Amino acid sequence: MHINRKKIIINEINAKHALGISGMKELDYTLNPYLGCLHGCLYCYAIGMNPKNIAGDWGNVLYVRKNITEILQMEAKKYKKGIVGISSITDPYNPVEGKYRLTRNSIEILAKNNFYVTLQTKSPLALRDIDIIKKYRNIIDIGYTITTMDEKIKDMIEPYSPSVRSRMRALKKFSENGIKTWIFIGPIIKNINDNLNDIYNIIEFASKI
Ligand code: SF4
Repeated sequence: MHINRKKIIINEINAKHALGISGMKELDYTLNPYLGCLHGCLYCYAIGMNPKNIAGDWGNVLYVRKNITEILQMEAKKYKKGIVGISSITDPYNPVEGKYRLTRNSIEILAKNNFYVTLQTKSPLALRDIDIIKKYRNIIDIGYTITTMDEKIKDMIEPYSPSVRSRMRALKKFSENGIKTWIFIGPIIKNINDNLNDIYNIIEFASKI
């Protein structure tokens, strides 16, 4: 599969729900401020979970769930407290998050209502929210996906995502600020990013932050 960057299409929609019940045992809920993902990773399992117009033009179409924080305000008061994963089928720090701030506002609502928040991203844009993440660091952690240390391989399988170096710098900064951090290494794709030295280098970096 090859993704051609054509024209990026951004649509605003209204969501009916903010929190979704998680099928993963580590999480009680998931929250996805966006549908689709402009990072356009070729291996993304979320492609198959999206409608045809997003899946068929993966990486180029994004839906902004613009009312999600209004709904979350109500749900956070009503729902049983638990662990919320942000996000499961998009990157919460898609480039447009710089403008819409849906992830930032969601983190704040959830933390104020005593939900535990676990963030997963590939973007250093998350550093914009280090103030709020630090403030609630007893109930927020942040993880970065790193599938390889080789930027060329990164460009091949995650064409529009931030560089590996920028992710490493962000992780270091969060860690230096006393925020719990983690790395997700995956997927490992045969003959693409399964070089053991490469994986070892990721683990070595993790051991130092
Ligand atoms: S950043 Fe995550 S959600 Fe976005 S395309 Fe890549 S794997 Fe999928």
